[in-house]
Amino acid sequence: MSDSRSWALIPTEVFARAFFAMFACRQPSFNALEQQRSSSAMRRWLGGWRLPCADELSYVSERIELDGLRECLGHIHSRLKRNKVLSPSHGWMLAAIDGHETHSSYKRCCHRCLQRQVASGSSTRTQYYHRIVVLQIISEGFRFHLDLEPVLPGEDEVAAALRLVARVLDNHPRCFDVLTCDAIYLRPSMIAVLLARGKHLVTTLKANQPELLDEARRLLPAEAPEEFRKAKRGCPARSVELRQAEGFTTETIATPLRVVHAHETGVKRERVAHEWKTTPVDSTWYWATTMSASLATGRAVFDFGHDRWKIENEGFNELCTHWNSGHVFHHHPNSILVLWLMLFMAHAVFHCFHSRNLKPAVRNGRTTIYFARLLDADLRVADWWPPPPG
Ligand SMILES: [Zn+2]
Repeated sequence: MSDSRSWALIPTEVFARAFFAMFACRQPSFNALEQQRSSSAMRRWLGGWRLPCADELSYVSERIELDGLRECLGHIHSRLKRNKVLSPSHGWMLAAIDGHETHSSYKRCCHRCLQRQVASGSSTRTQYYHRIVVLQIISEGFRFHLDLEPVLPGEDEVAAALRLVARVLDNHPRCFDVLTCDAIYLRPSMIAVLLARGKHLVTTLKANQPELLDEARRLLPAEAPEEFRKAKRGCPARSVELRQAEGFTTETIATPLRVVHAHETGVKRERVAHEWKTTPVDSTWYWATTMSASLATGRAVFDFGHDRWKIENEGFNELCTHWNSGHVFHHHPNSILVLWLMLFMAHAVFHCFHSRNLKPAVRNGRTTIYFARLLDADLRVADWWPPPPG
């Protein structure tokens, strides 16, 4: 890892280790981390260096090179793959991309802030915000955030996603085979980038492709359905009718696409006002994919389509709720990206430690937050606890 300071007394690695410890211990800010400056355990973790103060952490986070952090994430990725933590689904390595708004503010901004007008009473106010596109490798029981790309002023999310996918495939050509994402990514440019590298796309099909959706709605009911039951944890199994057809094209998308339609019926159990209630479920889904029926079954496309939600539910939601990712540690375009990449590292290593190193008997009945608190306590109280004998 390196940074662009012309004269550096403290090595970059010390700052990277401090950021890692901050996320692993779920510290909410640089100032909260700074409280551990006197901790001898923290000093040992930093290779003998004293923990830099909050101002130094901010200053260096503006200057850390992103390539070094991405390389480190790539190293973690190859170790995870070698140790079979990341495994294929239906024979294909799956990845998801999605956009995420890191934060918004009416008062603080920088030269890379995106802007929008928000109605406030009879007037409008300018709101500043940052948005990133994240690529997550999806495997049974493990999610790994491999890389991210910021959405720059004046461009849309797909432009950032194209840069992200191209860079990830340059750096890690075999990290995924199928990309699952939202309907906005169903663009000729995205299909071309993926097919040129031998990869495939599965997207939800929504009203933003009206021509394709209308044609699918007209043609698919004539197809013979494939029926199966889908089990869901804690809920009765749902009945699924799957219909599919190939060869769909539009005015803009010349590549023939296959459309898979699922009609799910059943019931779901949910707790409402202290009571368990059962409500009927009747949902329909359409997915468009570049995978022909000879490459993946309809059931595989159905699973890939639903797996897209993992980047939301087991990615952004977890990082926001339990890892303080919604906090702006330091409002600078480079700092924001540096800290998100460090967060990805801490998240991956923590979950490896939790799911692989801890025995089930130790894990059972304890939340992941409990183990984060233990890490934090180890770093905080090591100076004075346990008290010296006598
Ligand atoms: Zn900004």
